[in-house]
Amino acid sequence: MPDTKPVVIFWHRRDLRIEDNTGLHEALKSGYPVVPVFVFDKHILDKLEDRADARVQFIHQELRALKSQLQYFGSDFDIRYGFPEDVWKDLLTDFNIKAVYTNRDYEPYARSRDASVEKLLKASGIDFYAFKDQVIFDTDEVVKDDGSPYVVYTPFSRKWLSILSHRDLEPKSCAPYYDQYFRFNHPDLPSLGSMGFETFEFQYPDRKLHIEMLEKYSSLRDIPSKAGTSGLSIHLRFGTVSIRTLTRLARKYSASWLNELIWRNFYQVIIWHFPERITNSFKPDYDLIHWRNNTAEFDAWCEGRTGYPIVDAGMRELNSTGLMHNRVRMIAASFLTKHLLIDWRWGEAYFAQKLLDFELASNNGGWQWASGSGCDAAPYFRVFNPELQTAKFDADHYYIKKWVKEFGTANYPQPIVDHKMARERAIATYKQALSPA
Ligand code: FAD
Repeated sequence: MPDTKPVVIFWHRRDLRIEDNTGLHEALKSGYPVVPVFVFDKHILDKLEDRADARVQFIHQELRALKSQLQYFGSDFDIRYGFPEDVWKDLLTDFNIKAVYTNRDYEPYARSRDASVEKLLKASGIDFYAFKDQVIFDTDEVVKDDGSPYVVYTPFSRKWLSILSHRDLEPKSCAPYYDQYFRFNHPDLPSLGSMGFETFEFQYPDRKLHIEMLEKYSSLRDIPSKAGTSGLSIHLRFGTVSIRTLTRLARKYSASWLNELIWRNFYQVIIWHFPERITNSFKPDYDLIHWRNNTAEFDAWCEGRTGYPIVDAGMRELNSTGLMHNRVRMIAASFLTKHLLIDWRWGEAYFAQKLLDFELASNNGGWQWASGSGCDAAPYFRVFNPELQTAKFDADHYYIKKWVKEFGTANYPQPIVDHKMARERAIATYKQALSPA
């Protein structure tokens, strides 16, 4: 039986918080009671290989906490499991929906999903409103003077900083409107088990931003053995923190940390303007590279047994925590694409499977940067030297020893490839594809 009272729905996706949330703020101000909804999307979940997926568990955990908070206000959280197109048909019969509010998502799948849901709603005369929330500037706000998108980071960031005003960072406060939530009860949220996933012990990164970290960020950010970065990437990924709050603090305490938040915004804008460049190299010539794609070498890289300690430490950190320090991500990605000449898409897919903070825009951007094929990438002849990188960023081997216990013993593998040979081979192979004789 449908609930006949007119309501609006707020559809949470990668914004798992009820404070400083733009779309939610607008929904709560609409004058209609608000029903919060989340959909565990079968299209996404069915593709995950690991049934003990720490990201799914993280979402579940956050939703459970929000649900109790909403119940405390006398409302509830309508959390469903299925294909969004089916779930939305059910919601249409369960509620008298006046409008649907949400926050914009820039990834290609999300865009096509939203377009079909919007179409379904429109057919019933229901409006669909999507807001900018997960980035400071939207896809058409930081553009060249002729209106076209930037494809190089530095001018993008300059423009980004020049147009930033106090207004862009104002919190979209929701707390004053919490009594606008619809008063209803919804049966418990689907368990992880009922969706085919396991529950397990896992220590997730803290969501607190430490000011002392920001103050030291520019000097410690590249040292993987130090806790010199925020560790907030999973929270940014799922919107359990607000980008406006973080940007305000970044402006106050660390220009170099702000720079990283701008990189994130840059990649979101790029993925929106160039969705076809996700599967293809951003620079088309790079798809002519003759990759070696040796599967035994790929396995050695995945498992952290290349014989290059900094690469192996990174891969072992990834395999056991779901995270890898940014400097080491760059070294490991460069090693795969240049030393081993393995297609960046293989590495990208492995990171996508393993990273707690996996985000298509930044992952694709990072991989295409490392392989040289990206919009604003490392030049093809820049081949990171793992030894020099170690001397610069892990000279005392603290990071390496943490992850590679047998480092320095006879049990540690010999390098699977000689650095000098691999460097020359990479440059020659790239050169041949990019400027054939
Ligand atoms: P901090 O240094 O504290 O930075 C703060 C935030 O800024 C990060 O949480 C992140 O949201 C953003 N950020 C930082 N560096 C970058 C960057 N280079 N590009 C875009 N955003 C950035 N980041 C992801 O969030 N998801 C990914 O899937 C991802 N894949 C990557 C793959 C490769 C090959 C490379 C080289 C980088 C990738 N990054 C990715 C970027 C970066 O490594 C991580 O964001 C960072 O290591 C997360 O740690 P942190 O939260 O402590 O970062």
